[in-house]
Amino acid sequence: MSQTTYPPSPEMAKNAHADAQTYAKMYAESIENPEGFWAEHGKRLDWIKPYTKVKNTSFAPGNVDIKWFEDGTLNVAANCVDRHVATRGDQTAIIWEPDDPADEALHITYAELQGHVCRMANVLEKLGVTKGDRVVIYLPMIPEAAYAMLACARIGAVHSIVFAGFSPDALGTRINGCDAKLLITADHAPRGGRATALKSNADQALLHCKDKVQCLVVKRTGAQTTWTERDHDYNALIKEVSDQHTPAEMNAEDPLFILYTSGSTGQPKGVVHTTGGYLVYAAMTHQYTFDYHDGDIFWCTADVGWVTGHSYIVYGPLANGATTIMFEGVPTYPDAGRFWEVCEKHKVNQIYTAPTAIRALMGAGDDWVEKHDLSSLKLLGTVGEPINPEAWNWYHSVVGKGKCPIVDTFWQTETGGHMLTPLPGATTLKPGAAQQPFFGVQPVVLDPQSGKEIEGNDVEGVLCIKDSWPGQMRTVYGDHARFEKTYFGDYDGYYFSGDGCKRDADGDYWVTGRVDDVINVSGHRMGTAEIESALVAHSKVAEAAVVGYPHDIKGQGIYAYVTLMNGEEPSDALRSELEAWVRSEIGPIAKPDLLQWAPGLPKTRSGKIMRRILRKIAEDDFGALGDTSTLADPSVVDELIENRMNRT
Ligand code: ATP
Ligand code: MG
Repeated sequence: MSQTTYPPSPEMAKNAHADAQTYAKMYAESIENPEGFWAEHGKRLDWIKPYTKVKNTSFAPGNVDIKWFEDGTLNVAANCVDRHVATRGDQTAIIWEPDDPADEALHITYAELQGHVCRMANVLEKLGVTKGDRVVIYLPMIPEAAYAMLACARIGAVHSIVFAGFSPDALGTRINGCDAKLLITADHAPRGGRATALKSNADQALLHCKDKVQCLVVKRTGAQTTWTERDHDYNALIKEVSDQHTPAEMNAEDPLFILYTSGSTGQPKGVVHTTGGYLVYAAMTHQYTFDYHDGDIFWCTADVGWVTGHSYIVYGPLANGATTIMFEGVPTYPDAGRFWEVCEKHKVNQIYTAPTAIRALMGAGDDWVEKHDLSSLKLLGTVGEPINPEAWNWYHSVVGKGKCPIVDTFWQTETGGHMLTPLPGATTLKPGAAQQPFFGVQPVVLDPQSGKEIEGNDVEGVLCIKDSWPGQMRTVYGDHARFEKTYFGDYDGYYFSGDGCKRDADGDYWVTGRVDDVINVSGHRMGTAEIESALVAHSKVAEAAVVGYPHDIKGQGIYAYVTLMNGEEPSDALRSELEAWVRSEIGPIAKPDLLQWAPGLPKTRSGKIMRRILRKIAEDDFGALGDTSTLADPSVVDELIENRMNRT
């Protein structure tokens, strides 16, 4: 792992919230005295009744129980909106950038946001929604999605957002799964120049739900929709209600939201996050990881349908009084310059996106980036998968012009906020590594067989966390036993992330991908991410996914799916070239046994490669693909099956 490293620039180290010394001091405090540390940092929120108890958590087998700030009361919407109105009412809270760049962007101030959220809260109450009720939100990336989240938080209802790209089936399952009282949707959802008929999807989903579920419909495009007895017109109702509303007093441990994981390893799980600890953690990570300062324009390109959108479009930034961008579109519409156009237009200071988007834009060529003035950018972030050093270097040099630190943030729906991440003023960056734990996080590397902690550096194993942090999920909705089994069942006394990791000679962490994705070739264990990175490092390869398949001699063989850069054509010569390339990059053991050209890869809507499906195709066992409801484009699967390389 020898590579170029990037120390923080002297200005960054000087002006950042944390330089290396501050990080070391705060981190040590957070581990030696978590009670004291979080008692102090919990004060970043406004509490109605201040907490006297800080941490009450147990990872003990059969008795996993997590409570933070348990006797404190507060309201999330009051913290994200009301308290800023006095000090920064005229500051923009949300910049909304529509799908079509020809349409006008909106700038919503904190004072305006308060009015919108209060109106929506009053509408929800008028429809009979009360504290503790569940509300499913199935909306495009429009400001009303944020109003709906905050309105639920304001009255104490629990929201569960379903990404607007999901099918009626996936939506119906989630409405029934949390026994929702209300569904909030829109007529249509424009995205990438096409409009999804959201209301008609909602109608189909509701055919399979109880009659009591009501539906609140926001007008986005105004195009024709069906109308049923359970429907309510949001745009009409908000005119009838007041723009004042008293926020409910919530206990720190009252649920704030339920969110299903992306389902890349199996059935999605209904992850439950609560009020106090989650918000403290989302806000603090947003401030330190992105080094957010007052006046900065922050852009997280995720959808609010993912946890990244919850913590880093809405809750974290707004709790910090930030200006946050909500983008309705996709990176490549109307062209591959859209991200950079938005950065230039709104003078974005921090951009936070996923490796899959970075690789796609890298594949489209540098010209798209160079056309735009990106001088406002101070920091770049990534999340979702390990980022290949090749993509990291492109992001760093072409997008960041070598002057913006990259924060490669490792975390999960379950963790509420960042777990491992460089801090821009403190960390000497290593391309491809998430590096250091955030305050309060105690990562350990366990031996997967014995379950014992592996001490020292330059070691590898499974990534677990030794003690609780405030943003941790509390349970799986309606199934605490599944929560305990999934996350605490493998290694007694530890939270198991499901990911493998290395701790290098300097003590920095490298997440190597899911443990399920490790393959064993002739007795050698290899992370698929490493082979993928080698393939992507080849100049003609845009993206690659590697899985194992049963092999008579080696135990497992290596099956690679390869997507070429725009304009490159598959050929046998290129195949041999790639095989030789992997052999020279990693070693003969890593050479793919089978290599399939893939015009597209099956991905979740949040852009994660679904290796579970690729594994089935590689095994020539595609009859049982499992739950595919979270796939972005199911048609790529048919193409891959058609041209599969292993026909047993
Ligand atoms: P499911 O749990 O249903 O299979 P999922 O794990 O894909 O779905 P998420 O919570 O969205 O759902 O993703 C978290 C996972 O994403 C992590 O466990 C890890 O595998 C991967 N990940 C996220 N960020 C990073 C990162 N910076 N580096 C490496 N891996 C990452
Ligand atoms: Mg997961």
